[in-house]
This record gives sequence, C-alpha cells and structure tokens, in this order.
Amino acid sequence: MNVNGQWIETKQANISILNRGFLFGDGVYETIRTYAKKPFALEKHFERLKYSAEKLKIELPDLSLLTSIIYEGIERMTALIEDEEIYIRLIVTRGTSEFSLRIVSASPDFILIFRPLKSSGKEGVKIKISRIRKIPPESIDPRIKAIGQVDKILARLELSEDEYEAIMLSYNGYLAEGTMSNIFIVSNDRLITPSLETGILSGITRDVVIEIARKKSIEVEERFVELSELFNADEVFLTHTSAEIVPVRYVEKIEKKIGSITSILKAEFREYINEWLSNKNPG
Ligand code: PMP
Repeated sequence: MNVNGQWIETKQANISILNRGFLFGDGVYETIRTYAKKPFALEKHFERLKYSAEKLKIELPDLSLLTSIIYEGIERMTALIEDEEIYIRLIVTRGTSEFSLRIVSASPDFILIFRPLKSSGKEGVKIKISRIRKIPPESIDPRIKAIGQVDKILARLELSEDEYEAIMLSYNGYLAEGTMSNIFIVSNDRLITPSLETGILSGITRDVVIEIARKKSIEVEERFVELSELFNADEVFLTHTSAEIVPVRYVEKIEKKIGSITSILKAEFREYINEWLSNKNPG
C-alpha cells in the first residue's frame, strides 16, 4: 500500500490515532478496479473524489501524483499476482487534529490500498429491504462519498450471511440504493432505476449501464421508484464497481428470474470494456 507517497507493507503501515478519518470518519474515498490491469474510469473516479472533497473542504493531493501511484501500485501487484484483476481503495482524510470535532486546517493524509479483486462474477444474490432510510439529500448530499458510513453499517447489521445487500429507501419512502450498490429493475422490457434526485450516489457502473442500455435501444427511466415496483419487477440487478452487474435472485422471499435484459446488459458491459481496452491500446 501507499501512505502519503510512501510504499509500505500493509502490516507495517501506521497512521496516527489522532487522524480524523479514524476519529470521526472525516475523509473521502473511491473504489477503483482494473480491467486487463488498466484502471477503469479513472477520470470519473477523480471527478467524484473532487466533488466529495470540495463539499467537505478537504484538500486533495495532486491528482497526477495519485495517478502515478495508482499505475505503480498496479505494476507492483502484477508482479505478485498474474491472473486476477486489482482492487484499489483510495482514501483521503482531513489529517490529524485533537479530539475535538472543531475543523482545523490539518494537512490531509492519503492512502492507497491494492488488493486482488475478489468480488467479480456474483450471480443470483439475495437482497433485503433495510429499515434504515437515507437522509434527505438537501440535508446530507448523498453524492459525497465519505468514509463515515454509520447508516450503511446499521443497514448491513440487519443482513444475514446469505444476504448480499441491504436496500435503503429514501427518507420519503422511495426505492433508493444499496449500501454499496445502485439498483435497477426491469418491468415490461423497460429498465427503471432511482433518479439521482431520489438521493443516491451517482454510481459509475450505474452510468455505464444507462449508457449501454440506451445504445441498445432499451428504454431507460430514471425517476422516483415505488417499493412495490421492486417487488413486482420481472428482473432486478445491482451495480457496483468491483462486481459490475449483479443479478438478483431473491428480493426477500420473492423469487426473480435472471432475465434477458439483464443478460443482454451483462454481455454489452463486456463489450463496452473490450472497446474501452482497445481504445486505450493496452500494451
Ligand atoms: N451506492 C453506494 C452507497 C455505494 O457506496 C456505491 C459503491 N461506491 C455505489 C452505489 C456504486 O457505485 P460505483 O458503481 O461507482 O461503484
């Protein structure tokens, strides 16, 4: 891993207990993955990181420095593992301060963790509707990808071992998102997903899926979605960076089929990645 520009073994790495990320969850993060050992959608991840950091007034390190660390980390990992893709967690915290929450002008810390990617290719998972509701977006902007995640932790505590994701509703009862994923449903051959105004994270995989679907002339609706629409849907899937499109088999006790639109989108996602790789001209 890399801490503030220094390469170090995970077990040796240490960060002050006065770090505000540790004390208060005062920091932002991104999860990035590779395809053919190239970091996917890096610009979009940086854009989102910049948005999160700006909102929290955390100063980001130079993005070209982060980029070069990401490429070097991938190279270092490639020397250790051959076949697997790489998972990269990029964290920037406000740095260290005293125990008070009072905002001080600390010097931010950044950490990059590199791991073999494990969660690819999940199929037919089970999801649960959480009792935890999202905070109104006017109150806490859900597009801030912050490391402090008490709502998501409470939601995941409700899950049993065989349940993959807890789906949260918005404060006013609309279908919103999972703790780590966005949600899509298919109903009468239309692809429906909660709109950003519902109060969700603008998922990068979500963006790609919407783009792909429109290209394939699948009708896409981004809007407020009722919970009953999820229960009645023909197909349901989740999206997130590390696992792409994850078909859902059970919405609580209701069985769903892994239908043709989900399968088309999964195949098209592969195609999209192949095209991206050939444009990138990976060597
Ligand atoms: N919603 C939430 C709350 C998340 O934490 C994530 C994971 N970053 C997502 C959606 C999916 O976003 P992405 O496709 O960018 O991984």
